[in-house]
Amino acid sequence: MSEIKTYSSRPVGEESRLTACDLCGSADFQPHWDCHEFAFVRCLGCGVIYQNPQPLADLVLKRYDQQYFDYEKSNEASFLQLMRLGLKDIRFERRLGRAGEGRTFLDIGCATGMLLEVMKGQGWQVQGVEVCAASASWGRSQRGVEIFPGTLDEAGFPDKSFDVIHFSHLIEHVNYPRRFMAEVARLVKPSGWVLVTTPNTDGWQARWFGPHWRSAIADHLYLFSRSNLAQLLTSSGLQLRAFRTWGGLARGLGNPLKKAILDRLVKVLGTGDVMMMAAQAPA
Ligand SMILES: [Zn+2]
Repeated sequence: MSEIKTYSSRPVGEESRLTACDLCGSADFQPHWDCHEFAFVRCLGCGVIYQNPQPLADLVLKRYDQQYFDYEKSNEASFLQLMRLGLKDIRFERRLGRAGEGRTFLDIGCATGMLLEVMKGQGWQVQGVEVCAASASWGRSQRGVEIFPGTLDEAGFPDKSFDVIHFSHLIEHVNYPRRFMAEVARLVKPSGWVLVTTPNTDGWQARWFGPHWRSAIADHLYLFSRSNLAQLLTSSGLQLRAFRTWGGLARGLGNPLKKAILDRLVKVLGTGDVMMMAAQAPA
């Protein structure tokens, strides 16, 4: 896994307010990580780590501007590679077959649509959702894939529209993960798949680096442990099918042999930097 610098600037003067935990509703929390311009707390109800005070949702959306497009565009090859490795790790093709055969694949937070293009090439009928208007526009015009510019709520797709719903490095950016997941559960077909990738607070890097962890950034509003994410999926009516973590040591922090050993070890222990969960809707 290659090391990718994560976009992390916080707009000056942006309004934020104290908020209760969206996952469990508890307003009780304790300070967790002080990142100077912003801070993360630990919910005393469910243990999730979330940014508090939290920037307001409509202001959060404004962050995904032209500058964000430049960031997405310049990193798209690395992001695509990581997403494909993730899908391979959860044995996507073994579970669903390589050929899409016209089945529907939704990628939420699809950026410039690079994964959609790959899946379309394998016969999937693809649809993207992307809040960064410049990224959505670029993907539509340059890749010829359908991308809704806006939020999942705004897209308003019909019930049970998709065989597979994928979102990678998206749920940690959302102010209302429970409402978001309820919408995902509404959109997935019976026996359809939901594939989520997000930073893993059970990972040793989160524990070791604390406020300096590369995922403790201004754009990340909720940071999940394995059990937080499992709870979010199952409480939305989905059934867990697979769990993988990866990323033992960021490149540059140790020699390649040490990195290879650690990468292998965290996969076995579930303590990798990033996790992926696959869940399935009831038949
Ligand atoms: Zn909570």
